[in-house]
Amino acid sequence: PGTLYVVATPIGHLGDLSPRAQAVLAAVDRICAEDTRTSGHLLAHYGIRRPMTALHEHNEATLVDGLVAALRDGAALALISDAGTPLISDPGFALVRAARTAGVPVIAVPGPCAAIAALSISGLPTDRFVFEGFLPAKPAARRRRLQTLATEPRTLILYESSHRILDTAEDLAAVLGSRSVCLARELTKLHEQSVVLPATALPAWLREDTHRCRGEFVLLIAGAPAPEADHGAEAERVLRILLRELP
Ligand code: SAM
Repeated sequence: PGTLYVVATPIGHLGDLSPRAQAVLAAVDRICAEDTRTSGHLLAHYGIRRPMTALHEHNEATLVDGLVAALRDGAALALISDAGTPLISDPGFALVRAARTAGVPVIAVPGPCAAIAALSISGLPTDRFVFEGFLPAKPAARRRRLQTLATEPRTLILYESSHRILDTAEDLAAVLGSRSVCLARELTKLHEQSVVLPATALPAWLREDTHRCRGEFVLLIAGAPAPEADHGAEAERVLRILLRELP
């Protein structure tokens, strides 16, 4: 069989397409891209011209069989998305799963991912973390999801767009109170910015300057503190036993 390469592309800065990613993209028989126009610009920048197929959430299911057949026949395909790592809040899951089921080698060409980039600069604990992607769009469902996530002890990573950043910030403030939140926007781009604030301060920070609500966002939430053990009661219990036993 051929090979399916899952290739990460820049999340803003064009310099972040690795030399290996460039070589793989230039060599494959076909590039499956979420949006052929968006990726066309990136590939043109590197002088890469390969046949392209649009593969997005609306057609992925119908295209998978044909693409896997091509892979079985020996084709080398690359999968890319508009930005960052494919399958991370992006299309590609059905294709990767079908390729694996068919016994086709699937090779990662790793690179940018907004979640990991933001985590690495957040100053929040990185030893354990949870990626939740986008919260539900509807306000009631979003609040409910946040409430169930509020007790999560690991650092929580969320994606958000400019349309909903303020609403989500209001919800974070209401549900999390003074818990630390890191907001990272426009990573690797001209107006890159990142701050760590108590959740309650986030809405005001965003409103302070209209530019702050623009662009693409990663939100990272400090894990919930471990519930405090009741040391007082335990100490008292031990003391009572000791007093009883002492002469
Ligand atoms: N596959 C991508 C990745 O690996 O990060 C994520 C794709 S998802 C459809 C787009 C979301 O990723 C944006 O709404 C934003 O939350 C986040 N994102 C992408 N690029 C970003 C950047 N340069 N700065 C901050 N967040 C970014």
